[in-house]
Amino acid sequence: MDNSVLAIVVPCYNEQEVLPLTNKRLRALLDSMMQDRLVSSDSYIMYVNDGSRDDTWSMIAGYSEQDTHVRGLKLAGNVGHQNALMAGLETARQDADITVSIDADLQDDINVIPEMVKKFDEGNDIVYGVRRKRETDTFFKRTTAQMFYKFMTSMGVKSVYNHADFRLMSRRAVDALCQYEERNLFLRGLVPLIGYKTDSVYYDRSAREAGESKYPLSKMLSFAIDGITSFSVKPLRLIFYLGAVFMLISLAILIYVIVALCQGRGVQGWASLMLSIWFVGGCVLICLSVIAAYIGRIFTESKHRPRYNIEKYLK
Ligand code: UDP
Ligand code: MG
Repeated sequence: MDNSVLAIVVPCYNEQEVLPLTNKRLRALLDSMMQDRLVSSDSYIMYVNDGSRDDTWSMIAGYSEQDTHVRGLKLAGNVGHQNALMAGLETARQDADITVSIDADLQDDINVIPEMVKKFDEGNDIVYGVRRKRETDTFFKRTTAQMFYKFMTSMGVKSVYNHADFRLMSRRAVDALCQYEERNLFLRGLVPLIGYKTDSVYYDRSAREAGESKYPLSKMLSFAIDGITSFSVKPLRLIFYLGAVFMLISLAILIYVIVALCQGRGVQGWASLMLSIWFVGGCVLICLSVIAAYIGRIFTESKHRPRYNIEKYLK
């Protein structure tokens, strides 16, 4: 089998600094792949503009005007990386046999894309790009990301270790993905649920070529909470265990108090009392917040709002 139409889907949010370089490299790669007849000459790159506030869109529009192999999808506002990616994939599946999703910042090695396509030709529907090591990430990014993976696994969310959103998907895999209707998207948790034959390619992640990370700590945290609460009910169960431990502790205190009373030693000191009030109060609030996180999830899912709005599609 040869000559499948490939779409490289690139979500972009305020990426004006890196976009010229990204486009140059991706175009060169696409050219060489088309020349090698690895993919069809109808293949293209699709930049998804996620409501950027800088010149990103005008640059994308310029590229797509000059170049038939570049397309631009303009979303009406900022909907976040995961939704922007979904918009790109859903649009690309109309005419592409395979999609490869990749970040705009060139942190993922684009040179493994031909290898991904070869694995597709060998019959894989999903090919994950997996980072070998993350030496070029900052210490902070590296440790928080590693903690994130460990925590996710311990919470019962299956995801591919050290894989972000750099992956190849066949059309039928994207079709399957589109059937998952949840609004709180966590793609790297969803994709493994699809099934089909999968494989991985390995690469070294490099530093961001230009511009700043669009994932500050606050966004990373809410991404982690999204990931856990949309895939696992384990935290709800943990609350029960926490409550049980507290019951046991209070039982022990009760026994101690009764014994002390019988021995004629008065129970004194309000410090311990205050301490336990605050301690228990804190625990109750934490537990409530976990439940609130799930209720919030139900709230957003039940509204069935569209994930994104397409303003323009330049082919
Ligand atoms: N991105 C997006 N919408 C957002 C935030 C980010 O489309 O609201 C894109 C961004 O342009 C980039 C990708 O998501 O292509 C990953 O972002 P970034 O590289 O900043 O994340 P990091 O690699 O630091 O985790
Ligand atoms: Mg990045």
